[in-house]
Amino acid sequence: MIKLEKKYDVIVVGAGVAGLNCALNISPEKSVLVICKDTPDKSDSYLAQGGICRLPEDADYQSYFDDTMRAGHYENNPAAVDAMIRGSQEVIDDLIGYGVDFARNADGSLAYTKEGGHSRPRICFHEDTTGREITTHLMAAARLRRNILIVPYVTMLDIITDGKSCFGIVAKDGKNGKLYRLLSDYTVLASGGIGGVFENSTNFRVLTGDALAICLDHGVAVDHINYIQIHPTTLYSKKKGRRFLISESVRGEGAVLLDKNFKRFTDELRPRDIVTAAIRAQMQKDGTDFVWLDMRPIPVREVISHFPGIVQHCLNEGYDVFRECIPVVPAQHYFMGGIRSDVKGATTMPRLYAVGETCCNGVHGKNRLASNSLLESLLFAKRAAQDINNGYSPADMASATAAEGALDLSKYANPSRLLKQYKAKVLQAIKAAEEEAAKENL
Ligand SMILES: Cc1cc2nc3c(=O)[nH]c(=O)nc-3n(C[C@H](O)[C@H](O)[C@H](O)COP(=O)(O)OP(=O)(O)OC[C@H]3O[C@@H](n4cnc5c(N)ncnc54)[C@H](O)[C@@H]3O)c2cc1C
Repeated sequence: MIKLEKKYDVIVVGAGVAGLNCALNISPEKSVLVICKDTPDKSDSYLAQGGICRLPEDADYQSYFDDTMRAGHYENNPAAVDAMIRGSQEVIDDLIGYGVDFARNADGSLAYTKEGGHSRPRICFHEDTTGREITTHLMAAARLRRNILIVPYVTMLDIITDGKSCFGIVAKDGKNGKLYRLLSDYTVLASGGIGGVFENSTNFRVLTGDALAICLDHGVAVDHINYIQIHPTTLYSKKKGRRFLISESVRGEGAVLLDKNFKRFTDELRPRDIVTAAIRAQMQKDGTDFVWLDMRPIPVREVISHFPGIVQHCLNEGYDVFRECIPVVPAQHYFMGGIRSDVKGATTMPRLYAVGETCCNGVHGKNRLASNSLLESLLFAKRAAQDINNGYSPADMASATAAEGALDLSKYANPSRLLKQYKAKVLQAIKAAEEEAAKENL
């Protein structure tokens, strides 16, 4: 069993791409603890299919910027969008350096695919398992680093704070039942999305927005908590559990959406919110629980080489994509809102950072452009690590110990009840934000 120390220089909550890339970019002489609720492969990063955006050439800058802003309904933070696009080549270079194998053209250059809302191909991919390819290489690199300890089945239940600064976390070890009070100079929340609070979602069920609820509890600012993306195409199923995503790049490569009479009813390559609205309207008109997706317009060779995971999953569910249409339905997919952070990942509480899907730095505006989230998570996680390195100062241990001593431990006596309360808090906050938005629109 792994024995945890009382204090780490940096604690990172979450082992998806954001948490791992942050840990990898913290100075190697600093001790870094990375925790995750389940095993590291139970992160949404692992599930990403379509790919990761990269600015293919300088001439594409304006068009990529405009596509991101248009998808986000121009509510994006332009400075964050600019930083993401300009940093995209560095992110892909870093990943290739870690051994990530992106698809290549015959001449060895990177191959790009296209997804909804993009005016040209600019998405790097590895078959339809880009997230797994990236996450496993980051994990392998992190495991080689002597200063990084990655511990599964440890759930953050709270942060330790005196109301002014963050001094670490309270966490429960799901294996030995131990409650830890862990101190740190810096804490990074990289705890992903909120799909687990919804009945139908493509996300892992363990992702329930705990960090968001904890920030709400401690007055750390959150933004746009009602900006929730629904993905237009998940495989329709009556089974309970996570919904299986049919990547947008399937439509990018030529698949079409059909109504109950197998007629096309929309432009499949518009941004996600618009395609989702078109599907929902069609389902209502037809009185159906799904619409059809036809992958047969895509050349067979392309389907085999680019989408083997989707082909296999559909076969397991009884659908042969080479011979028939598959039923698809929209489901919750991504969280654009979150813990307010600047372009260096800093939250409104000193010594507390938030990166990846759990944060909101405004890069996605009201609606995320496809394949911008792996990029955003990786880039701003690296920026957060650099900010920590550049301004590193040890926390005042007297204040940290006092904040730890002031914790009311009875709050953590029943962790599963506490996590349920956090879920309810997140849902309530979303509802309140929706009601507020509805009033403003009157
Ligand atoms: C099916 C699917 C396909 C996708 N495809 C793409 C794509 O092609 N391109 C793209 O750009 N994006 C895609 N996305 C979105 C993208 O994968 C995520 O936005 C991104 O990976 C988020 O990374 P993250 O590190 O912030 O969070 P995650 O990878 O979800 O990691 C969250 C981590 O936090 C941990 N955690 C959560 N709560 C706690 C707690 N209380 N205590 C301890 N640990 C905790 C979890 O255990 C996990 O390790 C897809 C998402 C899904 C679901």
